[in-house]
Amino acid sequence: MESCKYHPDTAPNFTCSQCEIDLCKECVDHSIAGEARCFHCGSPLTIRVTASSMESLARRLPKAFRYPMTADAMMFIFGLSVATTFLAVLPLGGFIKFLAMLFCTGLAVNYSFLCLKATAAGDMTPPRLQEAAGGSLSILIRLFAIIFITGIFLNFVASSVSSALAITITLVLVIGIPAMLMCLAMSDSITEAINPVNFIGLMLKTGIPYLILVGFLFIMVSSVSLIQAVIGDDLLFLSAILQSAASSYYAMVAFHLMGYLLYQHQDALGYVSEDAESALLYHAEPEAVTHAHVSICLKEGDYEQAKGLLHSAIKQSPKIPALWQRYFDLLCQMEDRQALMDMADKHLSLLLKLDQGIPMLRNYRRLVRILPEYVPGTPALRLSLARLNLEGGDAKAAVRLLNGLHKAFPEYDRLVESGILLKTALEAMPNMEAQVEKCQSLIDQLRIRYPEQVAEGQV
Ligand SMILES: [Zn+2]
Ligand SMILES: [Zn+2]
Repeated sequence: MESCKYHPDTAPNFTCSQCEIDLCKECVDHSIAGEARCFHCGSPLTIRVTASSMESLARRLPKAFRYPMTADAMMFIFGLSVATTFLAVLPLGGFIKFLAMLFCTGLAVNYSFLCLKATAAGDMTPPRLQEAAGGSLSILIRLFAIIFITGIFLNFVASSVSSALAITITLVLVIGIPAMLMCLAMSDSITEAINPVNFIGLMLKTGIPYLILVGFLFIMVSSVSLIQAVIGDDLLFLSAILQSAASSYYAMVAFHLMGYLLYQHQDALGYVSEDAESALLYHAEPEAVTHAHVSICLKEGDYEQAKGLLHSAIKQSPKIPALWQRYFDLLCQMEDRQALMDMADKHLSLLLKLDQGIPMLRNYRRLVRILPEYVPGTPALRLSLARLNLEGGDAKAAVRLLNGLHKAFPEYDRLVESGILLKTALEAMPNMEAQVEKCQSLIDQLRIRYPEQVAEGQV
């Protein structure tokens, strides 16, 4: 199976012809809406929708039988069946009856082709009724024209070359009918549809699934004639409606399957369905683009580039915790002490502001493993981290954070609170009686020096 260069289990959605690599949608630059670019070389990418990325035709079958089961499609099927059955028994003149029948058939053919086209474009629900009503007789006329032209051609071959050749060509044509219909649906042109290069090309490009489809269509067609044979000529009015409905239903399933074959092989057939395009060429926020780019750099082992990308992304938008976190994780992995020292206070302060206690404590613990000398640069960080550490059972870390806080930040407005917390931490440690006593006298001093903190800060 073909796969994304960076995700061996994922089918590719894009190709970079410059770098000669296949990529999935997670691994490309979506910063501009309506296009996708290569992170390595910056060139625009070609969309690829490989058959392997989709459900196989055989797996699609059960769903195909449910395809016509929408209110619009059902209304169309039964409305048309009732209309044609009534037409058959109405006392109308032969020519008027013929025209009316022709009109109904035109509607049915048109709707079937709409189903094929919608499916090929990636829309897996039948078209709305309004769209069907807008249909004209043009497709029916084109179908008649195709039958007429091939009839004349076969007649010519049989009479002026050999009848054996005519029979061979007829066999190819019978197998090729679905392919011709598909070509007609995609191009809306008679000449495109009867051009052997087109319909035989389509058969070859789709291969085995095409043969499966043809086999399946024959089974469906013969089962419709079987219904007719079983019910026979002495049909009741209701069974006539049901028969007609059954064949419309089968036609819808068949045309949906033909559309699906196209949809599935769009890569080989050289077109990109609208749904694939809109699903793949979406716009991503700068943050998401950075994450995708960083992932690729890491998979390529280029840590320095990943670091640079995250650093400038944070500079651009400094309030996105996920970017900070990724930067922090990367620096820890790289054990980049200098960069960690430079960013730690800002990262932890952002988490404090967002009230993210658990990641704050986790990051602090990882940090001091790499930077044992690190002491946060603000009293608020020191107090919060001390509280978190104490709650997390690490009294020693709490003491380390609070020790000397009143000297380092004599203006801090929560010094009494910090002193009390320091005493609690000391009490939680063994053999600290002397320090607890010293701390108590410090608290008493602080209370005298900062009486306003006693009133609001007493914890
Ligand atoms: Zn990928
Ligand atoms: Zn490239």
